[in-house]
Amino acid sequence: MASSNTVLMRLVASAYSIAQKAGMIVRRVIAEGDLGIVEKTCATDLQTKADRLVQMSICSSLARKFPKLTIIGEELVVWVDPLDGTKEYTEGLLDNVTVLIGIAYEGKAIAGIINQPYYNYEAGPDAVLGRTIWGVLGLGAFGFQLKEVPAGKHIITTTRSHSNKLVTDCVTAMNPDDVLRVGGAGNKIIQLIEGKASAYVFASPGCKKWDTCAPEVILHAVGGKLTDIHGNVLQYHKDVKHMNSAGVLATLRNYDYYASRVPESVKNALVP
Ligand code: AMP
Ligand code: MG
Ligand code: MG
Repeated sequence: MASSNTVLMRLVASAYSIAQKAGMIVRRVIAEGDLGIVEKTCATDLQTKADRLVQMSICSSLARKFPKLTIIGEELVVWVDPLDGTKEYTEGLLDNVTVLIGIAYEGKAIAGIINQPYYNYEAGPDAVLGRTIWGVLGLGAFGFQLKEVPAGKHIITTTRSHSNKLVTDCVTAMNPDDVLRVGGAGNKIIQLIEGKASAYVFASPGCKKWDTCAPEVILHAVGGKLTDIHGNVLQYHKDVKHMNSAGVLATLRNYDYYASRVPESVKNALVP
């Protein structure tokens, strides 16, 4: 265990600088103006030049620094989303975008790094853009100021570009004071830990393991909870199904309030 802890800490430190470099690539592609958009499965499932360049950059950097990663890969698995919130990236909603590097040990998400390339972009032309949030279970989460939504307020954050009737039925059943519709799984978890939203509710398939791995660690490291819509803990083994078929339910506090309000009809429609 001592040696695997050393590997983990080296991996987290490397992933931190790799995620920062990824954020620079995300900004450079926008600055150069050619997004190179490709439709993957449909018009709301997109890939850009930034997704491709960041994927290559992260994978080659990890392979260079950890040539044995595949050997320990049965226990330690790295889940990478080179660009989370691609739809919003193509529409200029740049602060929705994150780069996600999640690390799982024996199927459990244990470390996460989130780079937000356009953090601070509304602060004017001289603002320093971007930040990196990171966390390790049992150690804590860093790079932001933890804040809670005012007590008694139920503010739900959900998808902006992948909504459907199940998604809206579930949100409505929670009797929210306010609903925020924004892009990105990483971005929504940042809203939870910075007191902008009290629950991330997504009652639909569509979100993948690389969307939830890093964000769930950051949330868990500060006492929050992320599960599927039934309350099941997510698994991150290397052979696990990529799709989070039964959606996502995440909160910083008061998880039970939201879990108890998921309608049976929604649960019946979403098979894990
Ligand atoms: P969203 O909240 O819509 O930004 O979704 C969070 C993450 O899940 C993003 O990486 C999306 O690309 C992905 N996602 C959610 N729903 C879908 C879908 N119906 N098709 C493709 N990707 C999806
Ligand atoms: Mg994503
Ligand atoms: Mg992506």
